Amino acid sequence: MKKNQDKNLSAGWQTRPPIVVIMGHVDHGKTTLLDYIRKTNVAGKEAGGITQSIGAYEITHPSASSGQAEKITFIDTPGHEAFFKMRERGAKVADLAILIVAADDGVKPQTKESIDVLNSTKTPFIVAINKIDKPNVDIEKTKNDLMANGVLLEGYGGHISWQAISAKTGQGINELLDLILLAAEMENLTYDPEAKASGIIIEAKINPQKGIVISAIIKNGALKVGDFISTPTVAGKIKILEDFLGNRVEKFIPSSPVLISGFDNLPQTGEEFTSNSVDLANFILPKTEIKPGKQTINEALSLNLIIKADVAGSLEALSGIIKSLKYENANLNILNESIGEITDGDIKAATPANAVIIGFKTKINKIAENLAKIQNVKIIISEIIYELIEAIENEIKLKEKPLPLGEIEILKIFNQKGKKQLIGGRIVFGAIKNNIRLKIIRNNGEIGTGKILKLKHQKTEINEAKEGEECGLMFESNTAINEGDRLIWNK
Ligand code: GDP
Repeated sequence: MKKNQDKNLSAGWQTRPPIVVIMGHVDHGKTTLLDYIRKTNVAGKEAGGITQSIGAYEITHPSASSGQAEKITFIDTPGHEAFFKMRERGAKVADLAILIVAADDGVKPQTKESIDVLNSTKTPFIVAINKIDKPNVDIEKTKNDLMANGVLLEGYGGHISWQAISAKTGQGINELLDLILLAAEMENLTYDPEAKASGIIIEAKINPQKGIVISAIIKNGALKVGDFISTPTVAGKIKILEDFLGNRVEKFIPSSPVLISGFDNLPQTGEEFTSNSVDLANFILPKTEIKPGKQTINEALSLNLIIKADVAGSLEALSGIIKSLKYENANLNILNESIGEITDGDIKAATPANAVIIGFKTKINKIAENLAKIQNVKIIISEIIYELIEAIENEIKLKEKPLPLGEIEILKIFNQKGKKQLIGGRIVFGAIKNNIRLKIIRNNGEIGTGKILKLKHQKTEINEAKEGEECGLMFESNTAINEGDRLIWNK
């Protein structure tokens, strides 16, 4: 039989292998089946000895219809997280599913849940009735259970293919793979090799040697080393592409699992990526330009932040970006970062520190919202990292104090009698004048104020001392000055 889809292909479009997910109740054999298929069907010397897991792998299996070796991609993330994330986002990663049911246990709550997911996402599936090597298993009862739950099996008046298997001994697994290839032929899975590459992020990990390594599955186009790719939260230029066995490859086509290195931040599981002809990284990620701050101004402004995000991946991305922001004369302090919605606990943490709460793809609950109004806590929520960064910059502007007119560093205490203190120092910024009031700064915090009663350069009384000059002061203050304190003249 010639492949169905060949005659349906539009010019240039090509067929792509199916992407398959295995679903079913816990302990019904998902992991055992994935392991068995991987061990017995991955070509090359690594077969059977693969230790790294990237969330997906690719096998070849001879097609029963054409006799040719055909590829199949299996998703093997724990709990098939990517599949569920995709469902939440309304996109799909898997083309086909295997619904696994243990013949000694029958249909269980997570079997039913899986059936609901498959029906609602309209994902075609094949039933694998597992553990048939076990004594006293009742395959017929399992089939009846499935029929009773709306899974209408082939041969029983329905059209859903099924196969009795043992994930332990391998019995029936070749036939199951045949069924997958047959089902894929019916699905007309194609891609456009000329299109921009796009696909789905399966996992992102930090590798001590390579930095952030993303595993993804390509669903359209072709992906090459040097391409710029972006997801809704991060962007980067591809430095290294590897297959799931860790071999470097220059170009990938659908439906291959691929490892990508070249990102500075973690994308989220289940996000879609696309390749771009321009360096989107420059637009999406803030440039981290470090301007030399004025060392003489010791009143560095600090903005306290509490960060919240929907999931760990986006929290890590946001926190990484905020930590990379550098501003002249302003420090950002992240007091706390966590996932979930903004709660009254966050407001209580923000209040004493005068912190701003930054929420990425999250919400605020009603109690927290009311409390924030009462306590006057600022909350900024957005789905766009760019907007959050702009909001942080606005907060800095609001907090920015004007530059002082002058600043003295105190180098020597000559005499301290009550309020009157004879002290000496150097003007490190601007200028100071006789008879002005100064703020006293110690360890970056204001500890008091005082007034200059007399200003001297060596023995001569003067009216003004300028940057770089040394001077002596008769200073009146309730606060005893220490060496190393700074006195600041503000407007
Ligand atoms: P999962 O929770 O769906 O991933 O299930 P596992 O693959 O971890 O399997 C749960 C248990 O069932 C393990 O102890 C497996 O060894 C066992 N198991 C899985 N498949 C078979 C099978 O075909 N036959 C037998 N006898 N045991 C199986």
